Amino acid sequence: MAAVGTWTFSLPAVEKMRALILEGVNSLDCVEKAMSDVENNPETGPYIVGRGGYPNRDGIVQCDAAIMEGHPGRFGAVAALAGVGTPLAVARKVMENSPHSMLVGSGALAFAREQGFSIEDNADMMSEKSSNAYQMFCEEDRSVKAHDTLGLIALDLHGNITVGVSTSGTPFKYPGRVGDSPLPGCGLYADIRAGAAAATGDGDKILCYCPTFHVVQLMKQGFSPAAACHSVIQDIQHQAGKNMFEFGLIAMNMKGEVGVASSVPFPYVVWSQSTNTIHQFQQSPYSP
Ligand code: ASP
Repeated sequence: MAAVGTWTFSLPAVEKMRALILEGVNSLDCVEKAMSDVENNPETGPYIVGRGGYPNRDGIVQCDAAIMEGHPGRFGAVAALAGVGTPLAVARKVMENSPHSMLVGSGALAFAREQGFSIEDNADMMSEKSSNAYQMFCEEDRSVKAHDTLGLIALDLHGNITVGVSTSGTPFKYPGRVGDSPLPGCGLYADIRAGAAAATGDGDKILCYCPTFHVVQLMKQGFSPAAACHSVIQDIQHQAGKNMFEFGLIAMNMKGEVGVASSVPFPYVVWSQSTNTIHQFQQSPYSP
C-alpha cells in the first residue's frame, strides 16, 4: 500500500489517501476523495487546480481532470469544464455512468448537471487572488508563469492502483484549450500489470510525448519506476533539445515503489506502508 502526490501542496491529499487506504477503501475512492478536498479549496487554486484556479482569456475558470484505474483499465475525463468545484468527480461519473471516456466544454457541463452536480457561477469559482491576477492580465497584459497539476496515485490493500489528475490549466489560456492532463497516456496512465504514472508541467508540450504511457510500458518490461522515469525524460530531452520545457513525471509500481524525473526542481510527497511515514522529497532537474 502506498500513495504519492505531485508538488508540496499535495501533502493533505496524501495524508487523506493514507487514512483511507488503511481503512480498506479502494484506490478509486481514495483518489477521488483526496482530490476533491484540494480542488474545492480556493486556497490551493493558485497551484492551478479547481476553485480559485486562474481563469482563461475570457475570465472563465475551465478545468481538466481525469481518472484511470489499473484494473480493469477504465478511464474517464473532462476537459474545459466550467462551474464545478470538483472536476475529478465528474470525470469519474463519465467513466462509470456514460458510454464515453471524455466529455468537454458545454457537453461536460450538461452531463455534470444531469449527474446532480451543482453548477456554480464563475464568480464563485474565482478567488480574490485569481480575480486580481486576471485584472492584471487584462489591464497590463501581465501573465502568470505556473504549471502545477495535482497528480495522485493510490495503491490500495486490495492490490488495485488508481491515478487521478486535476488542473485549471495554463493561466489565461485560449478558451477551450486542453492540456496533457485529461489525455490518457499523456497526463496519466495506469495498468495493474505494471503500475501508474502522472505528469505535470507544460501540457501543450507534454501531450506530444505520451510520457505516462511510455513509463508504464517500461515498468511492464521490468524497469523500476525510477529507471522508467529517467529513461522517458532522457528520451524527451533528446528530442526536445534546447526547447526542453517544464515537466515533472511521477510513477509507482505494484510494489509501491516510486520513481520521479523532472526538468525543473520538483517536490513530491510519498507515503508508504512499509515505513508508515509521509515524506516530502525534492527531485533535482535531469541533466543529460
Ligand atoms: N499540465 C497542465 C496543463 O498544461 C498544467 C500543469 O501541470 O501545470 O494543463
